[in-house]
Amino acid sequence: MNREFAFLSAPRCTATSKRSRERCKAPALRGCAVCRFHGARGGGPKGPRNGNYRHGLHTRETTEEYRRLLELLRPRGLEP
Ligand SMILES: [Zn+2]
Repeated sequence: MNREFAFLSAPRCTATSKRSRERCKAPALRGCAVCRFHGARGGGPKGPRNGNYRHGLHTRETTEEYRRLLELLRPRGLEP
């Protein structure tokens, strides 16, 4: 009995252990270089689908926009 399982031939996770310095070797997620343990899929859902979402005032996009706005408002030529 030597069945060929699909996950055995799947691409492996590229993460390396800090302690043993060995490759993770777990099957990587589809379209990712690493396995689920090592950060594929990266955290919770973005935007209103996230459980902690309130009003969208502090999302990555609005924070980035605010930063750009401050950049435009900053007086030029005053700094040395
Ligand atoms: Zn891994």
